[in-house]
Amino acid sequence: MPRLVMKFGGTSVANPDRIRRAAKRVGVEVAKGYEVIVIVSAMSGKTNELVGWVEDVSPLYDAREYDAIVSSGENVTAGLMALTLQQMDVPARSWQGWQVPVKTTDAHGSARIEEIPTANLDAKFNEGMKVAVVAGFQGISHEGRTTTLGRGGSDTTAVAFAAAFGAERCDIYTDVDGVYTTDPRIEDKARKLDRIAFEEMLELASLGAKVLQTRSVELAMRYGVKLRVLSSFEEMDDNAGTLVCAEEDIVESNVVSGVAFVRDEAKMTLISVADRPGIAAAIFGPLSEAGVNVDMIVQNISEEGRTDMTFSCPVNEVPRAEKAMADAKAAGSINYHDLVADTDVAKVSVVGIGMRSHAGVAAKMFSALQAEGVNIKVITTSEIKISVLIDRKYMELAVQALHDAFDLDKVA
Ligand code: ADP
Ligand code: ASP
Ligand code: MG
Repeated sequence: MPRLVMKFGGTSVANPDRIRRAAKRVGVEVAKGYEVIVIVSAMSGKTNELVGWVEDVSPLYDAREYDAIVSSGENVTAGLMALTLQQMDVPARSWQGWQVPVKTTDAHGSARIEEIPTANLDAKFNEGMKVAVVAGFQGISHEGRTTTLGRGGSDTTAVAFAAAFGAERCDIYTDVDGVYTTDPRIEDKARKLDRIAFEEMLELASLGAKVLQTRSVELAMRYGVKLRVLSSFEEMDDNAGTLVCAEEDIVESNVVSGVAFVRDEAKMTLISVADRPGIAAAIFGPLSEAGVNVDMIVQNISEEGRTDMTFSCPVNEVPRAEKAMADAKAAGSINYHDLVADTDVAKVSVVGIGMRSHAGVAAKMFSALQAEGVNIKVITTSEIKISVLIDRKYMELAVQALHDAFDLDKVA
């Protein structure tokens, strides 16, 4: 029988009524003849609540217990979804990560899926199960402990199951009806895209568009999973939503296809470090060991053998970055005059595969920001994106200005 993966995010399973609505969609696909793997998130807000409890009890928590606690939201929705389907006479049962099993690395809090053996689910499908409801976001480590895949990880669970079980499609049901040119909550002129290339979606996701977890897009690209994002609140329609697909399958193409942002960034500057071979390794080695996710890096001009080094990281990692630098200084591996943290910055990026063949995107971006009086603090570019750090208070304004400047509300 053909198989389908249907993933329901937190707002789509926020209460029993929403679960019934989602279950009806599953019932429609079962009636068409599919065996369905349903991946559920925790009810919206639940994971944040659980993380809050962990931090309340133990600020420097044991990551294995963090995972034991934070993964629990998905167990509840998986059971409720299975019960709801049974009420509709659809043969269904729930599966927690370890029962499948979803085998992952030992990196608690941000584990990666290594393997999903299909035998257990296949055996039950062969016995007549029509729907396997799997708790998203969780797996089991080599040591047999529960792991989680990082925030938003149910998307990755869904794509990994689609790949492992050869599903015809992976449908991601969420609270927006597809992937937009930017977050529709920030820019009401944001336009829904019918299709987006894997590469663009990957950049948008990694630059902050949380509609899909970055890793899920990576997996879909690697395994050629047909990935669709659509709303669980609208009428069912085979052409609904946004299809994430190969570049060759895109007809419409703007030079820039989207704007993404990360609100809570910090800009850190080490003042007056020695400008010598090995200094970057001496700084960024300890930061990486401390688990600081460094993003942009700029080395400033050198004067009399000394220079300033600037980097950005998520704002909640600033204390760890400060400690790593202070420890390295105390150990004598680096020397600096001061470490200045600017914790009020945001990152705004424009993304588009069209940039490969069009010059002038950077100039247009910078002049649009200038017209709004937005000062750029750091710039980085790659083949298909340009990112800037700016004051956080200008973030919305910058997103809207760039959306206008690149005419993203209009089809090319
Ligand atoms: P779920 O709980 O279903 O996983 P998420 O909150 O993780 O949903 O992701 C959906 C949200 O992503 C939307 O509500 C929207 O605010 C946000 N978002 C950010 N960028 C985009 C974009 N480019 N297109 C669509 N949604 C976006
Ligand atoms: N519940 C988890 C989170 O909020 C995973 C997910 O929803 O994708 O991050
Ligand atoms: Mg999500």
